[in-house]
Amino acid sequence: METKLDILRRYFGYTSFRRGQEEIVDALLTGRDALCVMPTGAGKSVCYQVPALLLPGITLVISPLISLMKDQVESLTQAGVHAAYLNSSLTPAQYSRALHNLSEGLYKLVYVAPERLSTENFRTAVENLNISLIAVDEAHCVSQWGQDFRPDYLKIAEFAESLKNRPTIGAFTATATKAVRKDIAEHLHLIDPVRITTGFDRPNLYFGVQMPHSKALALLKLIEERPGKCGIVYCSTRRTVEEVDALLNDKGIPSTRYHAGLPEEERRRNQDDFVYDRKPIMVATNAFGMGIDKSNVSFVIHYNMPKNLENYYQEAGRAGRDGSPAECILLYSPQDVRTNRYLIENSDPNPDLDFETQEKLIQREYDRLRKMNYYCITAGCLRAYILNYFGEPIEERFGEPEEENCGNCSSCAGGSVLVEATVEAQQVLSCVARTGQRLGINMICDILRGSENERVLQMNLQTQ
Ligand code: ADP
Ligand code: ZN
Repeated sequence: METKLDILRRYFGYTSFRRGQEEIVDALLTGRDALCVMPTGAGKSVCYQVPALLLPGITLVISPLISLMKDQVESLTQAGVHAAYLNSSLTPAQYSRALHNLSEGLYKLVYVAPERLSTENFRTAVENLNISLIAVDEAHCVSQWGQDFRPDYLKIAEFAESLKNRPTIGAFTATATKAVRKDIAEHLHLIDPVRITTGFDRPNLYFGVQMPHSKALALLKLIEERPGKCGIVYCSTRRTVEEVDALLNDKGIPSTRYHAGLPEEERRRNQDDFVYDRKPIMVATNAFGMGIDKSNVSFVIHYNMPKNLENYYQEAGRAGRDGSPAECILLYSPQDVRTNRYLIENSDPNPDLDFETQEKLIQREYDRLRKMNYYCITAGCLRAYILNYFGEPIEERFGEPEEENCGNCSSCAGGSVLVEATVEAQQVLSCVARTGQRLGINMICDILRGSENERVLQMNLQTQ
């Protein structure tokens, strides 16, 4: 009989398991549930694909990411595995053919979007099948406190329990906060799961924050100082993507762009240009990167601050996948906070949630934003800040608790300098006091800078 290592070699071409993978594989093979928290790129898919090929029955992989399903099914098929996916990208004819094949037991691995689980025809198709394993990818979607809650994920447990034999359940996520982990175990009804959390630290990544007067100039400088390197520039809006891409092209820098507003064909072309190194710089919104596995990205620059650290770490983490030194640099301006606030305030309410839950969710979003913002202004070690955020105590990483110095971030590498600022601090406090403690930070800054902007003049504060 083939062993898990044979499978790993034959179908995936790897000679050994990475940290954490083997424990998860072993648990799932012996029918024990598992909760696996690993950062993006750590290799979660192998953890359920290897058992899938060894277990007697079928494995269902539940995933909300259509493009990822397609990529994974394509590479499995190429490796000779019978696999398919069921999601809204299929035509009705394709869908019913795949369902038919599924019910005939022709597939070993089937990727399915969560909303399909409760449909009548899907339930009928799987009724008489032997399902050994359900792998729940992006399992944080089950948590209302996760950054992308999917109500359909709440139906997974009920679905699993409605089958003749409840399959083993493996839950996979890159979101490690305690509340989310607890929610996953609870809502998926995991039974005494093996819990594996592997290191979130990526020692080869340098983390830096800059607060430039002109982001455009700062970006040009960063790129010009890294000739021939391949990198991603993330922007928060489509319009900024267009502007930044045009700026780079104007300067003769070979960049391309990606955002959800571009026609499918152009997106694919631009993505290929980047992936195959024809255009070394990709300017994109956060729509870019999912399922893209380019190992030689040597820097990720954020032209805008993302709305939370989950998003930031995921996007920045696309640098240095090959393990060689790479840089993650965020260009910060206080305007980024305002933009994100606006986006949170104006996000579409989730129709499946009651008002109170909506409100709580919004508060969580603000809380995450606050912590993201603090990352940009802290003088402490940025790596320690990130690891702490994701629930890894710092002392486990760097020895002494107070020794928060990784030597590889803009704080630890001398990027921030302690200065004597007593006078400035007194001026700020006195301004706050003299304006009756009723103004926000932006107004205070405007006043102190002697701005003659409309609101300052209107309130007659320029003479304060
Ligand atoms: P995740 O789902 O955790 O983001 P993936 O499953 O997409 O990560 O794997 C990330 C990368 O790691 C892929 O390029 C994969 O080929 C590689 N990988 C996974 N497991 C191993 C292994 N045991 N040895 C070498 N490379 C691996
Ligand atoms: Zn540091």
